[in-house]
Amino acid sequence: MVKLVLVLGDQLSDGLSALGAADKTIDVVVMAEVMGEATYVPHHPKKIAFLFAAMRKFAARLEGQGWRVVYSKLDDADNPKTISGALLAAAQAHGTSEVIATEPGEWRVIKALEDVPLDVTVLPDTRFMATHAEFEAWAEGRKALRMEYFYRDMRRKTGLMMEGDKPAGGQWNFDHDNRKPAPGSVTYEGPLRFQTDDVTREVLTLVRENFSNNFGSLDDFWFATDREQALQHLHHWVQGGLAQFGDFQDAMMGDEKFLYHAIVGLYINAGLLDPLEVCQAVEEAWKHGTAPINAAEGFIRQIIGWREYVRGIYFLEGPEYTSRNALKHNRNLPALYWGEKTWMRCMDKAIDQTREEAYAHHIQRLMVTGNFALLIGVEPTQIHEWYLAVYADAFEWVEAPNVIGMSQFADGGIIASKPYISSGNYIDKMSDYCKGCSYKVKVKTGPDACPFNLLYWHFLDRNRAAFSNNHRMGNMYRVWDKMDAEKRETVLAEADAFLAKLDAGETV
Ligand SMILES: Cc1cc2nc3c(=O)[nH]c(=O)nc-3n(C[C@H](O)[C@H](O)[C@H](O)COP(=O)(O)OP(=O)(O)OC[C@H]3O[C@@H](n4cnc5c(N)ncnc54)[C@H](O)[C@@H]3O)c2cc1C
Ligand code: SF4
Repeated sequence: MVKLVLVLGDQLSDGLSALGAADKTIDVVVMAEVMGEATYVPHHPKKIAFLFAAMRKFAARLEGQGWRVVYSKLDDADNPKTISGALLAAAQAHGTSEVIATEPGEWRVIKALEDVPLDVTVLPDTRFMATHAEFEAWAEGRKALRMEYFYRDMRRKTGLMMEGDKPAGGQWNFDHDNRKPAPGSVTYEGPLRFQTDDVTREVLTLVRENFSNNFGSLDDFWFATDREQALQHLHHWVQGGLAQFGDFQDAMMGDEKFLYHAIVGLYINAGLLDPLEVCQAVEEAWKHGTAPINAAEGFIRQIIGWREYVRGIYFLEGPEYTSRNALKHNRNLPALYWGEKTWMRCMDKAIDQTREEAYAHHIQRLMVTGNFALLIGVEPTQIHEWYLAVYADAFEWVEAPNVIGMSQFADGGIIASKPYISSGNYIDKMSDYCKGCSYKVKVKTGPDACPFNLLYWHFLDRNRAAFSNNHRMGNMYRVWDKMDAEKRETVLAEADAFLAKLDAGETV
């Protein structure tokens, strides 16, 4: 019997397990652009355009390899609207009930496949380095699931930057050489920008017609949309950006959106690049002396460490993970996240570049937009859905642990041993944002005070009970407790006034 081979928008890989288990002379690949997936959160138009264009090109690539592909465009008159609908329509057309799929990266879609009245075989997603069983075995019996130890196992497993059973350079982690503040200027020209072609132009028109009300600009679309382009971009970055990636990975600059970042997350997550090949390209550069060890190790750790680890957590913790709210936060996401004016330059810059590029780098996500949401106590589901919508690399398996766990501490400390919060000091140290801000980062109270300075203490004060047993927070509370009582009252009252303005929809 003919089998249907489901290929989802983030499964655009030649080596996909579902394709490997099928027979191209008999079986039929099913791919569909569907409103159900395009609208479950209001995705950034550039993200939708990237995925639809990459899907169309991948379908053509499969046809070129001899596959029969049933492809539904979003504006086809008989568009099936959901993934299940696409499978049911193809099953009827081809007289079959058998489907082969690779495990989706989202519980919602896994459930949809379970519910479809067809005979669906779900295969593991082999594009990751750790299987679910390996992660579960690693997590079993551990008191704390810290990424660093998992990462070491992944180094041993992949052999990346290993000298026998020892890490290259005698250390697992070279982070003490990284994390320099914002440089005076950036020497890397940034990601390779691709001209639009017939496929991307058609998709851009479609997205403009259907999603123009979504937050995000569709102008100057430059993403790679096929494997060859993504590989070109990777090599461009390895040659031009990698060497200083480590030094400046935590730096932020108002006029530099990309600094030395790789901008490969979207390509890896969609399947255009394989994570191992990306790491091998970096390892090669280090071996050839074109990248220092702190840059190469730091980058490889992000991929085989953090990326694999957060996926492990997502599947270990199950579908309820995204509704966790350990700190019982319930504030609505302020309109400034959707582009309403703010006087906070750091927030303005990070959100504006998100609107333009569907991209912000890790520290902008963690220590600016994430930090602010946590300090003001946004309901975690709302900020989770924001991140899922606005970044081109956002898929729930990777976004949710980063937001619910790492950024919002809503999982109660599974991922982070203490919340990632900071006053304006950290942002000032790592960026050039504060120099041009209407607020004054050194001012702690009064109308000019940086809001992060007020909110930081407000967060600690109102969450005291939740952190009473967290020894890593002890110092922060000691500093707060030593503060003059009158000053503490002023800080809390001014933070409350700021939050009241925010809730009233006033520009802050
Ligand atoms: C609040 C928050 C939300 C995030 N949401 C996403 C998301 O939706 N999708 C996503 O891929 N990453 C997410 N990240 C992780 C990280 O910010 C992005 O992977 C990175 O910014 C992508 O840009 P880049 O390719 O230039 O990465 P680089 O900074 O050049 O890093 C290289 C690669 O390492 C991997 N990586 C680095 N950090 C992480 C991490 N914490 N988790 C997983 N992979 C990591 C990515 O594949 C990334 O492409 C989030 C981080 C935070 C703090
Ligand atoms: S002063 Fe405060 S609000 Fe302004 S950019 Fe610096 S940290 Fe952000």
